[in-house]
Amino acid sequence: MRRTIVRNSPVHGRGVFALADLPAGAMLFEYKGQRLSWKEAQRAYEKSNAEDGHTFFFGLDDGRVIDGARGGNSARWLNHSCAPNCEAEQEGERVFIRAIRPIGKGQELFIDYQLTVEGRRTAALKRLYACRCQAKQCRGTMLSDG
Ligand SMILES: [Zn+2]
Repeated sequence: MRRTIVRNSPVHGRGVFALADLPAGAMLFEYKGQRLSWKEAQRAYEKSNAEDGHTFFFGLDDGRVIDGARGGNSARWLNHSCAPNCEAEQEGERVFIRAIRPIGKGQELFIDYQLTVEGRRTAALKRLYACRCQAKQCRGTMLSDG
């Protein structure tokens, strides 16, 4: 049974929504896509959809990125929130999305992208990854704190 669906999001573009009440801890799906180096990913992002602001990137522990736009599944539509209700778990090279709180039917699913970038954080870079999640604790960026 499908537990999630992709539709238009009030936060940004499209999003992933719960089709049923999901318990905390539920494993929802894998985040699929092609593996890119951070440099490759940044180049692809600046070229393709920089105005759109929607990233399909998921950062791996080793600094590489999963590009959900290439070979990805519906997980690529997960929007970022600084107060997420889902988190990503990395198992080797694979990433799985798990609910970290009970999620009510119809609610949008969010993860904290915590994107990491190499080099200096320029103003342009910060603008590119600005966060609009509207959470109380929003840190204003989809980049990680570090
Ligand atoms: Zn935010």
